[in-house]
Amino acid sequence: MELMLTEWQTENLGLTVRVKETLFSGRSEFQEIVVVDTQEFGRMLVLDGVFQTSVFDEYIYHEMIAHVPLCTHPQPKHVLVIGGGDGGTVRETSKHPTVERVEMVEIDGMVVDACKQYLPETSEALRQNHSKVKLTIGDGIAHMRQANSLYDVIIVDCSDPIGPGEGLFTHAFYQDVFKALKPDGLFVQQTESPFYHQPLIKRLTKDIRSLFPICRTYLAPIPIYPGGAHCFTLGSKQYDPLNVTPRKLDFKTRCYNSELQKSCFVLPNFLQELLAGH
Ligand code: SAM
Repeated sequence: MELMLTEWQTENLGLTVRVKETLFSGRSEFQEIVVVDTQEFGRMLVLDGVFQTSVFDEYIYHEMIAHVPLCTHPQPKHVLVIGGGDGGTVRETSKHPTVERVEMVEIDGMVVDACKQYLPETSEALRQNHSKVKLTIGDGIAHMRQANSLYDVIIVDCSDPIGPGEGLFTHAFYQDVFKALKPDGLFVQQTESPFYHQPLIKRLTKDIRSLFPICRTYLAPIPIYPGGAHCFTLGSKQYDPLNVTPRKLDFKTRCYNSELQKSCFVLPNFLQELLAGH
């Protein structure tokens, strides 16, 4: 008997959740924005049909995108976050005692407003107008092109490389990031799935290595993303995350710890091979 595999073919890349309630739905100039309450992951932000963050697992993504670069730099003071409309990255960044100023440039004010209302957990620093945080609604690509301040750390907490986020994965953008960093600055970007975005990861690693003397990829387990594993790529002018002595944070974290600071850079062979020679 012939097996009917049609449904299973979509299951491989898809993740299905049961929607209990749609809390917000709107169309901005840039994307379709939905916040839903789900059976499996609680409240979730979905942009153009792509799962961005959920109250179930957001701490993993936000702690790993913020604390790994901030603990690689010995004294991060001035930080820029590009994207990150749900507020989770600025929430984590502002916890660091050395950090004096966190600038956030998010293209879509409707994402910020929806998250302030329906995702209070991630957006607390934005809702409470945290004294370190300065939010600008604008295009992160244009901001980087014109940047006139120099940053210690830049965190690119962007959506997928389609739509408004596309230009955040280009050589020209990385050149602007390089220029906007201090002589010992570093940056990190979420760089998608190690399984399903290999050509993209290969290309951007090559671009970052052509500019930054140090380029390292690290991984975190993120249940709501396809494949469950997610890549982050760090470009640094001086500090190598493999050589820093991990420091203990003086606040509580649910995922990040000083052992993970080193071990997240240990890559499986297939990824080492993908990145070799680029
Ligand atoms: N954790 C998420 C993920 O990887 O799926 C990313 C979360 S965050 C919601 C991504 C944000 O990047 C979105 O709010 C989107 O509006 C913003 N964004 C996309 N392109 C941008 C650009 N060119 N400048 C600034 N923000 C941008």
